[in-house]
Amino acid sequence: MNFPFSLAKEYKEDEEKHDYVQQAGNSEALSIEVLGDETDHNGRKHRSLGQNNQQEPLKKPLIQTNPLLSEVYLTHGIKLTIPRYILERVMSESKATNSDQKHPENTTEVYAIHGAEPEVLAYAMAKYSRSALTMRESLAEISSQRAEQFLNTFYFQYGHRSIADLAHIPFAIEKLSMLAAIALVDEARWDGQERSTRYQDFRRSGWYVPQLSTVARRNYQHAIEALFLSYDAISLGMFDALKAAIPCPAEMKPADYHRTLKARAFDAARYLLPLATNTSLGQIVNARTLESQVSRLLSSPFAEIRNLGVSLRKAASEPAWNVQRDKLEQLAGEGAVDAAATSEILNDLMPPVRTAPTLVKYAEPSEYQIASREELSHAARELMRDAEGNPAEIYPAPTVDLLDDDEDLEVELATSLLYGCCHYSYRQLRGAVAALSEPRRNELLKLGHAHRGKHDELLRAFSSGHGFRFDILMDIGAFRDMHRHRRCIQLIQEFSDVHGYEEPVCPGQPTLAEAGLEPAYKAAMDSALAAYRALCDSEELEAKQSAQYLLPMGMRCRAMFKMDFAEALYIAELRSGIAGHFSYRKVAWEMYRAIAARHPALAGLFRIEDVNLPVDLLKR
Ligand SMILES: Cc1cc2nc3c(=O)[nH]c(=O)nc-3n(C[C@H](O)[C@H](O)[C@H](O)COP(=O)(O)OP(=O)(O)OC[C@H]3O[C@@H](n4cnc5c(N)ncnc54)[C@H](O)[C@@H]3O)c2cc1C
Repeated sequence: MNFPFSLAKEYKEDEEKHDYVQQAGNSEALSIEVLGDETDHNGRKHRSLGQNNQQEPLKKPLIQTNPLLSEVYLTHGIKLTIPRYILERVMSESKATNSDQKHPENTTEVYAIHGAEPEVLAYAMAKYSRSALTMRESLAEISSQRAEQFLNTFYFQYGHRSIADLAHIPFAIEKLSMLAAIALVDEARWDGQERSTRYQDFRRSGWYVPQLSTVARRNYQHAIEALFLSYDAISLGMFDALKAAIPCPAEMKPADYHRTLKARAFDAARYLLPLATNTSLGQIVNARTLESQVSRLLSSPFAEIRNLGVSLRKAASEPAWNVQRDKLEQLAGEGAVDAAATSEILNDLMPPVRTAPTLVKYAEPSEYQIASREELSHAARELMRDAEGNPAEIYPAPTVDLLDDDEDLEVELATSLLYGCCHYSYRQLRGAVAALSEPRRNELLKLGHAHRGKHDELLRAFSSGHGFRFDILMDIGAFRDMHRHRRCIQLIQEFSDVHGYEEPVCPGQPTLAEAGLEPAYKAAMDSALAAYRALCDSEELEAKQSAQYLLPMGMRCRAMFKMDFAEALYIAELRSGIAGHFSYRKVAWEMYRAIAARHPALAGLFRIEDVNLPVDLLKR
């Protein structure tokens, strides 16, 4: 039986925990009540005890056998020996309660909550742990100041980090580069949506310009403008080619026909969008994810991404934009609402709210991430050298390589640590790591945790031991889509020119060559790559990072996806569907084929159709 006396005693002896009970409302921690004295037919005094989660009061004699202890009998012959001072305390507290109070049965209550400040709500929810108060009661008594005090103590001092999971904060993040957006969404616990390259014309979105000297800036602008011109030319040219190839069916509205074919044309043109292209997204994350997201962004080698970390932390710490306040002020401005009432409402009912001022205030760049990245990159360069000491050649690799799972965990961990710091395939890198002596391999492992601080989670590369590991070489556009899968571990290599670029090829759709667009496409790609290389090799500040903004979405990049079977099936099914982009449909299909080849008995579980078959281009 979970009798709370012992709990009360334990807290009393432990000052820290006692504080917790106090803050969470210690009167609720004692859920026993004593229901008064009775005298039985032998003239003996009885004391009835009840527990407030039981339906009937419990009536059994109380016998004193020891001056310091009380023996209490509960129903079903259960005997408890309780220190007397505790029993007396219970009795005195019980006087305040109504002895006739009945405990209602089967009264589950469910209600959604809206309008509480995120940190106040997090505190109120955490209170369930130590308090019997209802949410309504908790929220009625908590102020943002008390929430801040509580979170300062329990989140930061005692490390109850899961409390921050309970504060959810929506953000609008607008006009950031696609490159920064990829970094932003790189969270396993992330919910959000971003602008679609299929349904929106990105020509008007603008682009990010890094800090560059005058000449480098001019070259950068020219390269981006050239890419957008080509983007226009390919989308218009492909749209015309599609219209010529597929007449509008009589039963289809012309507007629907145009919209569908335009989306197909954008699917091809997106290969030319540079990583600098501005996008916008909405994200809802909890404060714990936000804290690690901000810290990760602040640790980035890209200036734009570091600034994004600063902006996110600021947005969470300053008063949030409040839709209702804006509406009310507008109504008051129009004279539709009384001005005095408006100011009272604004001050008392809708004060400015800071969404997570306490929980993200300490988010700083992670020295662990920064130092590990530097040392692991160095180790990868040292390891992957040919006989002359030059960087080893990158071997060709298939689009999807499903890795065997028979290497030692130490080899997987060391390979995974280096993987994100170079451009080699996992298989090639693993060969080099496996050939190392055990002490050398252990040195690599040590690099992965040597700088780990007290509150740092292990680097993502340590998330290992998954049954299905796909090393995927795909265009950046497809990667952006695949990147959104969260029930898996992704190790991502830096964007570069080393893997060349893809051409848009959709079964059933005119190819670039058929549309007469291939020369224009190739010229645009090659000129963007020339601009990339020139900036990369320049003396500009953060030259290697700034150059990446010039890379178009059609460039290939490599990423490792580790997952269990269910997620592999989920991704293969979802991403092979005809509604998807042909680029990742191919990846999904190859994932399926690799699993089917290794586990023929499981192939039948996949609801999947061959993505190489021509699709009805008027269906989405
Ligand atoms: C045809 C198509 C069009 C798309 N268009 C857009 C678009 O315009 N803009 C855009 O931003 N995105 C778009 N997406 C991406 C889409 O919104 C998802 O982000 C992506 O498909 C990942 O899907 P998922 O969340 O179901 O899968 P995963 O993240 O792989 O998750 C698998 C499953 O795990 C569970 N899960 C994982 N994480 C969570 C979590 N945090 N909360 C709850 N459950 C979780 C869920 O059950 C989920 O179904 C599109 C996707 C498709 C297929």
